[in-house]
Amino acid sequence: MTQPQHTGGRVNVLTKPEVIGTIEELRSRLTDAQGRLESERAGRGDAGGTPRIVLVPTMGALHAGHLTLVRRALSLGDIVVVSIFVNPLQFGAGEDLGTYPRTLEADVAALAAEGVPFVFAPVSQVMYPEGAASTRVTAGTVGSLFEGAARPGHFDGMLTVVAKLFNIVGPDVAVFGQKDAQQVFLVERMVADLDFRTRIEVLPIVREDGGLALSSRNRALEPAQRAAARALSAGLAAAASVADQGSEAALLAAHARIDAQPLVKLDYLVVVDPQTFLPVGALHHGPARMLVAALVGHTRLIDNVALDLP
Ligand code: AMP
Repeated sequence: MTQPQHTGGRVNVLTKPEVIGTIEELRSRLTDAQGRLESERAGRGDAGGTPRIVLVPTMGALHAGHLTLVRRALSLGDIVVVSIFVNPLQFGAGEDLGTYPRTLEADVAALAAEGVPFVFAPVSQVMYPEGAASTRVTAGTVGSLFEGAARPGHFDGMLTVVAKLFNIVGPDVAVFGQKDAQQVFLVERMVADLDFRTRIEVLPIVREDGGLALSSRNRALEPAQRAAARALSAGLAAAASVADQGSEAALLAAHARIDAQPLVKLDYLVVVDPQTFLPVGALHHGPARMLVAALVGHTRLIDNVALDLP
């Protein structure tokens, strides 16, 4: 396997990332990489401080949205780890754990092209040797709303694996996408509540030309479904354009687009307060976020947009 090379003070690769499957090996590689960088820096008389580790957690089936997170990570840190793990703990019974796309070879090739040095791709047995973690992080009230109402236990499973990844990798920064707005809210809250040292960096949603938010699940959409799915982003854009008339006007505008599309089965459309992630009251003004989730065929899609309410 190709060893990480050191270029310009950052751990980089010439051809391939190291794909690591165990916690012990990852930790030892990261310790080595940090040590080598530190001694290189010392050799150059560069104080520099401890090399920064940046983590990008993913479930693989990488697309251009993931790659923007990866590029940001590479610009932020000295050592970048992309984790690829389809976390069984965050899938409920009857969800798409079995059919979730798994494309490790293509993912590693895409990460090689970006110059990522380390890919952590454990099997479930490595992350959950007892079958499932009996100790879990609980997401609290917000964890049972919206995505959490549709997918009971999802956010406890997500936070548990994120906590494990933070403890395994010890990142200075972890990069997440705003696409999963409730996930970002809950991860930021977990970091604050449980005093993780990791800083969370959040990047905007990457969309296709037609507006559809990129998602690994979009692969499952047939052409007519994909066309219909654009009603979600169109609805959010319509909402944002009338947000200066208030949240009711924004909701009406979004409903008009989404409800007109018979292939889109709306689950929820709601405006939340970004501070609490609870639905806004009539008196709320200022920053807010509209969230949408829908089924298109068997595919569950989510999207969101920032609103500025009068
Ligand atoms: P996933 O592999 O779906 O768990 O996503 C891994 C990370 O990529 C999460 O932080 C997501 O929010 C982020 N992500 C997924 N899709 C997008 C997108 N279209 N734009 C920006 N970030 C995204």
